[in-house]
Amino acid sequence: MARKWVYLFTEGNANMRELLGGKGANLAEMTNLGLPVPQGFTITTEACTQYYDDGRVINDEIAAQIREYMSKLEEITGKKFGDKTNPLLVSVRSGARASMPGMMDTILNLGLNADVVESLAEASGNPRWAWDCYRRFIQMFSDVVMEVPKSEFEKLIDVKKAQKGVSLDTELDTDDLKDLVAQYKAMYKMEIGSEFPTDPKAQLIEAVKAVFRSWDNPRANVYRRDNDIPYSWGTAVNVQMMAFGNMGDDSGSGVAFSRDPATGENKFYAEVLMNAQGEDVVSGARTPMKIEEIKKTLPEIYEELIGISDKLEEHYRDMQDMEFTIEHGKLYMLQCRNGKRTAKAALKIANDLVKEGKIDKKKAVLDIDPRNLDTLLHGSFSKASIKNAKLIGKGLPAAPGAACGKIVFTADEAKKQAAKGEKVVLLRLETSPEDIEGMKSAQGILTARGGMTSHAAVVARGMGSCCVAGCKELIVDEEAKTAQLGGNLYHEGDVISFDGSTGNIYDGALPIQEGAIEDDDFKTIMTWADEFRRMKVRTNADTPADAKKAVELGAEGIGLCRTEHMFFSGNRIDAFREMICSDTVEERKAALAKILPLQQSDFEQLYEVLEGRPVTIRFLDPPLHEFVPKEEADIEKLAKAKNKSVEDIKNVIEGLKEVNPMMGLRGCRLAVMYPEIAQMQTRAVIRAAISVSKKHPDWKVAPEIMIPLVSSKRELRYVRKIVQATADEEIAAANVVLKYTIGTMIEIPRAALIADEIATEADFFCFGTNDLTQMTYGFSRDDSGKFLDSYLNAKILESDPFAKLDPVGVGKLMKIGVEGGRTTNPYLHCGICGEHGGDPASIEFVNSIGLDYVSCSPFRVPIARLAAAQSSLKQGDYKKD
Ligand code: PEP
Ligand code: MG
Repeated sequence: MARKWVYLFTEGNANMRELLGGKGANLAEMTNLGLPVPQGFTITTEACTQYYDDGRVINDEIAAQIREYMSKLEEITGKKFGDKTNPLLVSVRSGARASMPGMMDTILNLGLNADVVESLAEASGNPRWAWDCYRRFIQMFSDVVMEVPKSEFEKLIDVKKAQKGVSLDTELDTDDLKDLVAQYKAMYKMEIGSEFPTDPKAQLIEAVKAVFRSWDNPRANVYRRDNDIPYSWGTAVNVQMMAFGNMGDDSGSGVAFSRDPATGENKFYAEVLMNAQGEDVVSGARTPMKIEEIKKTLPEIYEELIGISDKLEEHYRDMQDMEFTIEHGKLYMLQCRNGKRTAKAALKIANDLVKEGKIDKKKAVLDIDPRNLDTLLHGSFSKASIKNAKLIGKGLPAAPGAACGKIVFTADEAKKQAAKGEKVVLLRLETSPEDIEGMKSAQGILTARGGMTSHAAVVARGMGSCCVAGCKELIVDEEAKTAQLGGNLYHEGDVISFDGSTGNIYDGALPIQEGAIEDDDFKTIMTWADEFRRMKVRTNADTPADAKKAVELGAEGIGLCRTEHMFFSGNRIDAFREMICSDTVEERKAALAKILPLQQSDFEQLYEVLEGRPVTIRFLDPPLHEFVPKEEADIEKLAKAKNKSVEDIKNVIEGLKEVNPMMGLRGCRLAVMYPEIAQMQTRAVIRAAISVSKKHPDWKVAPEIMIPLVSSKRELRYVRKIVQATADEEIAAANVVLKYTIGTMIEIPRAALIADEIATEADFFCFGTNDLTQMTYGFSRDDSGKFLDSYLNAKILESDPFAKLDPVGVGKLMKIGVEGGRTTNPYLHCGICGEHGGDPASIEFVNSIGLDYVSCSPFRVPIARLAAAQSSLKQGDYKKD
């Protein structure tokens, strides 16, 4: 029997999102709920993957089912596709499993040709509308299916408006639109070399192909990578009877949210654009009005929409984002989904839904995207700086945060400048999906057009970028690269500031203060998350300031203190250089004697900040090339300090050069070669712990010493002996009792493979997945940027393995490592401190292999707490009450 590739809306439900995509599953669910949904069918995500497997063709079986379901749709609607008397027009829209707003393609008003438009004009008694649909269809089909740039058509419409002396599309009459259709067709013929297609069935197949194709467009690929959406999922395609929002002043298109997506307030929020189709709202070409404005003209629609919004929220138990169309005073629902929201709104909504008894704490914790929390940590302008600032304009507060930077007018320029380290703000009339990378590079986005649901607003909110949208007073000339606002003329490079939480725009630079999470909703959700998570969350911190921030954000200890980083700052690097550029033991010992008190005081400060929480101190792991002096003046300075000639120092430096420094003299190899370094570090750690313990007898200061880059049992045993002997000597000399542990990083594949042996010498393991990824793939941590994009574009890799842990290869080694280690050392404490420790997908994986903790940079601690809780809830290892 043939596989089923197509489903009517009446055949699906909300649980079928893998097959029908989010949009298709929810259209089916709304149909089942009896809501006014224009009927249609969904071509499955499997049909999309089949299309790619077949070499980007729709095979005969799928094409036949599409035709069969088109006939079924004709029966349901009582209209006929391509018919001259009662024609059926459809929309063709993408819909992946996870929502990817604005990333893929849509075609509206499909089914029109010269005959159909005439009959539509006559039957409806509304020729203007019929011709408006036709010109929209030609434009969209040409753009999406045939890749004739939309701007070519927009130029024609702009000329027409100028000739007529009008500013809005809605002011063009039937004859103008007829004339435009003729011009559009001529444009199509000129660009493509053939007539615009007239057969609706052929139009449909081409449109479906175009939507499948759009799954692989560059912006969709970027979005997927940023949002952990696998390429293999594919998109479904929804073919739905058109409802027309452009039929006159009693028609319109809009977007609604059951709660405010920016603040989370339990307040229905909707925008509508009268006499318009959906794309006009999303593109931001016209600024929509608040739904309250139709209360007088269409009161029953207003009430019905609120009723539907309540019903859907109740049903899905989450805030809903809905698209609707009003056709001649009748409401149609075109889409619903769990709405994208700011982090602040996400926390408030989850909390409120629990308070309202609609969801439990588990669902509240699961419903928040951990990556979204990043945005809570964004900066803001201080009240004092705002007081003295020059306000030049105001737009819509589309996405929170504060932005300040040099003006640029194109996404490309934003990318270029940001790569040079410049802070830029992107000013646009409106943004489009092609701008996504530039938007990411900018500190903030400011647009002249568009509402809260425009592309700029939605995308910025999702990315966590600051955005002020729809600033009507802003005049942007993208070609001349100038902008006018508040009586000022701005050029590229001039500096402005704006506030995405208020919509205010200021002249010049305003200082931005660091974000602080003081939100009560955040605290509540984090408390719930902490109740559910099994894994502990520590931080990677080398300075007291970083450690303090991390503790504020909920870190339960330090999982990685990179001691070499303590020597990057100030003139400490001098002492460090004296140490690494020594060529006798005596010289080295003299340099180490200078370093010892510095290290001891560093560790004391960390212990003070951590107040008895665990602190893992990793012994020196400097790729030496990062530390040797390069500038002539620095070499001279070092020569002087060491009482040597510049020539001598240069010789030592030359001798330290390595072809492969990442695989060279680093990590525990340093301790094997120069035991006095490990001895010095041990003394510093133990002395600091003793001193802080004396000051705070109630704190449990128990040093955790971590040996990096271990690859064999003998190697670890060798270094361990040195550390242990020194530590015991210090403890005996101080005549105190102090517990300490010695563990190792697992960051070399060999170490993972023979973890059972290594664990006999280790009290704990911490996976250094940065090096483990580097050495498992053989990709250089420092240079892989050069080829990674090619790998991503060629779909050899789905994501950057240095950002998101590779569960298949690197993960397999980790699993072998944990299981192996625990066979010989059943209570072996295991964690991760590579960058992956703060990445939600990686956290989910390490929870599944039984790690005890993750350690990540301070600002990712809240993300890790939430992701760890979600992992436990999903994997069932949470504390059950
Ligand atoms: C690692 O390799 O994952 C690690 C944490 O160590 P570093 O990044 O310092 O090499
Ligand atoms: Mg490492």
